Amino acid sequence: MPTSPLIACHDCDLVQQEVPLPVGGVATCVRCGAPLYRSSRFGKSYTLALCFTAAILFVIANLYPIIGIESQGNRHQSTLFGAVQTLWQDDMALMAGLVFVTILLVPAVELALLIWLHLTKHLTSGLAPIALRLIVAMQPWRMVEVFMLGLLVSVVKLSHLAHIVPGIALWCFAALLPLFALLNTAFNPRDLWAAMPLKQ
Ligand SMILES: [Zn+2]
Repeated sequence: MPTSPLIACHDCDLVQQEVPLPVGGVATCVRCGAPLYRSSRFGKSYTLALCFTAAILFVIANLYPIIGIESQGNRHQSTLFGAVQTLWQDDMALMAGLVFVTILLVPAVELALLIWLHLTKHLTSGLAPIALRLIVAMQPWRMVEVFMLGLLVSVVKLSHLAHIVPGIALWCFAALLPLFALLNTAFNPRDLWAAMPLKQ
């Protein structure tokens, strides 16, 4: 017969059995009342809807130009991947690699794994724990916010030298910021760990 996992209270060290929580529920220690763990305030379908919306915006953000620069009758515009290629060709391989990993690769893999984990019926498979660990490990490396900040500073500085035309991708990345913030709040790895069976 499967048993629920055990958890130790951080405050009084009492070991007790975990119980399933409702959406937004908080489990507290039976002895000292300290909070032990909580479930997400949002349901699985809400998290999945956020993931799909973010994924669609992310694809559009990578297909269309971020900004266009008009100067002396010439117009130049670039996608994010185009910017990575330019950095690479200008012998800034480290910068190109950082931008590629933190702005392109990590958010893409994270969103794909999140969608897969929320849709799959195979949480019992060995791949699910690996995917969940990967998501948790990658989250600090998703730097869309830093990218947007740097981009805005560049746009303000360049606006004195040339006419800057914001591209569709810029608006998509701007919309991704609150979406990723909501996703951080909605996604609780513990909820998925709890749905995975214990190894006997
Ligand atoms: Zn306690």
